[in-house]
Amino acid sequence: MLPLVPVQPKHLDQYRGIAGDEVIDDILAVAEDLKGVRIAHINSTAHGGGVAELLYTLVPLMSSIGLEAEWRIMQADADFFTITKLYHNALQGMEIPVTEEMRSKYLSVCEENASDCDQEYDLIVVHDPQPCAMLAAMEGKPAGKAKWIWRCHIDSTFARDEAWEFLKPYINLYDGAVFTMDDYIKSPIDVPCLAFIPPSIDPLSAKNIIPEKRVQSDIANRYGIDETRPIMLQVSRFDPWKDPLGLVDCYREVKRDYRDLQLVYCASMADDDPEGWHYYEKTFHYSEGDPDIFLLSNQQGVGNVEVSAFQAMATVVLQKSLREGFGLTVAEAMWKRKPVVAGEVGGILLQVDDGINGFLVDDIGEAAVKVSLLLDSPATAQRMGEAGHEKVRRNFLSTRQLLDYLRFFRIVLDS
Ligand code: UDP
Repeated sequence: MLPLVPVQPKHLDQYRGIAGDEVIDDILAVAEDLKGVRIAHINSTAHGGGVAELLYTLVPLMSSIGLEAEWRIMQADADFFTITKLYHNALQGMEIPVTEEMRSKYLSVCEENASDCDQEYDLIVVHDPQPCAMLAAMEGKPAGKAKWIWRCHIDSTFARDEAWEFLKPYINLYDGAVFTMDDYIKSPIDVPCLAFIPPSIDPLSAKNIIPEKRVQSDIANRYGIDETRPIMLQVSRFDPWKDPLGLVDCYREVKRDYRDLQLVYCASMADDDPEGWHYYEKTFHYSEGDPDIFLLSNQQGVGNVEVSAFQAMATVVLQKSLREGFGLTVAEAMWKRKPVVAGEVGGILLQVDDGINGFLVDDIGEAAVKVSLLLDSPATAQRMGEAGHEKVRRNFLSTRQLLDYLRFFRIVLDS
């Protein structure tokens, strides 16, 4: 059996006050048809990154409405994750060939995991490319009754053909597929059921509850950050697609006029992302010992409460991504009423309405201009922050995503 990830129970009713009666009642109505359905989510890590963040909420919420929901993680060694990160980069458009060695390692690990996978479920939802070929590797095993759904979280708009074509035959074996946006389907796939479902944030998680002012101050002091001075914040893994070096350039450009500006970059090191340390080191050297640049991570005790505190005390939040499957960090900041200056890419386009709740930018110069504008005009920042909060409340809370999933599960089970 693949290892089970323990999750804290959650109760749908607690979301009624924030999300409203309509969505909760809709969820309960659809859940009637799904009572007792056994579902397993499978992904590659229980820590770090957006997928783990989502599953910590969606899995217990599914259980709370009568499904038998579990979350299991695939087992793999460091070589596999190095290969799948290269592969992930190729799917996001980087010039990386998919070699024979990559293919065979990828397939052999998926086969091992398939042989450990119990099929006694009604639905199995496989997240992202790492475990995608597990279903293909099931051939020859006694067929269970499970329907299989592949959930893609990455921005494959500009996928290299070779990488996309490698994955496609494996996707085509699924009973259903879920993407965040239709642009992410690089060339047509052939699955019986297809849905476009954007991710969501949990308004009741420690990540999204704003700590008291006193706690915020303690956290700022702990890391040597001066909360009375302006803070530019980005919360992201250290990853080329999050453009950490570009972020430092942007900070330097703004800092010429705003001498008291600080940059906080808050990262979590994900188990399935071996590039994290490398990009941390690159960013560290690039920062040239600037005492107003704070590169922080879970290694220094930055957890959900700290991330929430930094988002709450930030003057402007940046998400200078070059590709972005969705960008939970954008919704998290908007929920805390912060204006977001973000790369005009991927799932960010679903969230940031340019000039209304933040700014979409193409390059560092433009980002610096918008950050300066927000530092100059707290009233604009506040107005945008309010608009962002409302956008998230209407579109990007866990309850909306749960409802979308349940409706799709019903379609797949009936197909
Ligand atoms: N995150 C965190 N601590 C950090 C950095 C990131 O908890 O120091 C969380 C962040 O708050 C968000 C998730 O990791 O919930 C990242 O998801 P996102 O969709 O933004 O990006 P991904 O890592 O999946 O590309």
